[in-house]
Parts: sequence; structure tokens; C-alpha cells
Amino acid sequence: MDPGLEAAFKHVERLLYGDSGRLGLTIYDLERLVGYPARGEGPLSYTLPKTQALSGVQAVRLYYYPKDPNLQLIVEIEDREGKKHLRHFRWNGLTWEVPEGKRGELKSTEETPGLLKVGEDYFLGFPREEAVELEKEVRKGEALGAKYLLCPRCGARIFYAPSVRPEGVACPRCGNTTLLFKTLSGLEPHKDPLEALAEEQRALRKAIEELVAYLKRKLGP
Ligand SMILES: [Zn+2]
Repeated sequence: MDPGLEAAFKHVERLLYGDSGRLGLTIYDLERLVGYPARGEGPLSYTLPKTQALSGVQAVRLYYYPKDPNLQLIVEIEDREGKKHLRHFRWNGLTWEVPEGKRGELKSTEETPGLLKVGEDYFLGFPREEAVELEKEVRKGEALGAKYLLCPRCGARIFYAPSVRPEGVACPRCGNTTLLFKTLSGLEPHKDPLEALAEEQRALRKAIEELVAYLKRKLGP
């Protein structure tokens, strides 16, 4: 666990919800910080000043969405590696609450770089709901820029999260350790040539197996 990141989350928690010494941030405080409405209709942002508590991260930014009744505040904590941790809040008139289905826990969540299989593809380092979401996008051809490893031997695709180091990953289907680095792009023909080749080989193998079975039946044992 990254102590700098933990400290930043603690700081944000105190800022939003207060502690024994002071009150939490209200939506009116937030509006003043981002300069709403003087600076426009939003979304508007405010970067917290660098303090001791935030010295372990690159930046903490508050994004205010005045027009969205379900999501009014996104807190972005950018860690040392440049990875952004987003937390979502709405103002319920008294305090900040987490909109349904969003992330609002003010601590760094344990990365679980487990391998999941969704549909025909594998997902490494994603929480299950994100993997399911991504798989849908991949299927619809909308996940442009998604990075994955392609197994040239069996055609398996392993999509991996930004937090995952893809070097050294083996194919979960056939164990092949020589995987190709790929990025989904809308410009490529739908099927990768290597994948097409692998598919052709599979089809050919199946045809041969069927032929052999046919011959065995014809010629007898
Ligand atoms: Zn494979």
C-alpha cells in the first residue's frame, strides 16, 4: 500500500466530512473554490494546494458538475506514478454521498490483479464489473485503445489493466509465454491476421479430424 496515497485519501476524507476540529466541505464551499458561477457552467475544477499531507501524490483535484443532479463532485487523486484514482459524490443537502454504482470509498482500493474470463476473452487486473463492461465495449468495437496480449498459438486475447505489468504473462489457455502486444484500433480490419491464421488452423485441424473419423467409419477399424 502506497503511504503517500493513503495520506492523500485521509486528507480528502477530512476535507469532505470534517473532523472534531472543523466542519466538512459543503457544496457552497465547493462552488466558491471552483468559482461557480462566475467561471461558467462547468464542469469546473480546483486543485488543492500542496501541503504536507499531499506531498506523497502528484495532485488532488476537485471537479464540480453543477448541471448533474446525480454526480456533482469527482475527486481525482493522481499518485506518484501518474495513475488517477477517481471518487464520485453527490450532495444530498447535508453531506456528500456516493451515487449508486459509483466509487466513493476514501482509501486506496486493493488491486486484485486476478485473471477473469468474460465471453471469449481474458481480463487481467480488472475488478469484475469493469471487466464485464470492457468486454461489452470490445464486442461492440468501442474499446479503441484498449491494450491486450494476443497469443499467436491459440488466439486468446488477454486485456490488461494499466496497473498490470504485461511482461511475463503466460497465455491462460495454452500456457504459451510468447505473447504479442496489441492495442485495439478501429482502423485495423476486424480480425488480426495472426488471429485469423490461428482460426484457420483450428478450422483445418477440425476438418482433418472429421475426415479421419469419416475414413475410420468407412474403412472399419
Ligand atoms: Zn494460447
